[in-house]
Amino acid sequence: MAIKGGSNYVTDIKTKLSELLTELDKIVTDYDPIMIGECGLDFYWPRKQNFSKQEYDECVGIQRELFEGQIMLAIKHDLPLTVHSRDSLPECLQLLDKHPKAKVVMHSFTGDYGQLLEIRERGHLVGINGIITYSSAKDLRKGLVKYLKDSDIKTPKDLYSQGIVLETDSPFLLPRGSVQKKNQPANIQLIWNEILFLIK
Ligand SMILES: [Zn+2]
Repeated sequence: MAIKGGSNYVTDIKTKLSELLTELDKIVTDYDPIMIGECGLDFYWPRKQNFSKQEYDECVGIQRELFEGQIMLAIKHDLPLTVHSRDSLPECLQLLDKHPKAKVVMHSFTGDYGQLLEIRERGHLVGINGIITYSSAKDLRKGLVKYLKDSDIKTPKDLYSQGIVLETDSPFLLPRGSVQKKNQPANIQLIWNEILFLIK
């Protein structure tokens, strides 16, 4: 859960944080999921609100608490954690560094080569999706090519061995070349094709 709501929501939810995390713990126990998330820190949406400095800080503080609670939940249940990080990579990594037992996928990665290395040197996986097909994603495309340049990539498994996983973020982030209106798992093929094209 990343908080995207307005200021009343922020104030209301603050008192409910530990209740929310307890409830989430119960859901995980009851439903036996394969993963926790996506969760993380999103500084893009709070900046888009008309927040005062105090409201912004509160919102970010709540996100931190919920994120750290979910990191601990994932460790407790021995589940992987899929992390949403928007305009917040250093802060996300800093929190994750406090919990080295977490098994992390940084989903929907859009960063550059340096950020890719920062994630990989911690052993976290990097999720690549349809954004890699956008010509506007120059840093991402250049960074991934540089990162993979000495690896012999022939199959998605080879990518995985380099810490890269493919994802769609369905129904969002339709890859270029898709004929549908909503993204779907079959589009993994387009993302994979684009990576092969970029690294050849
Ligand atoms: Zn996300």
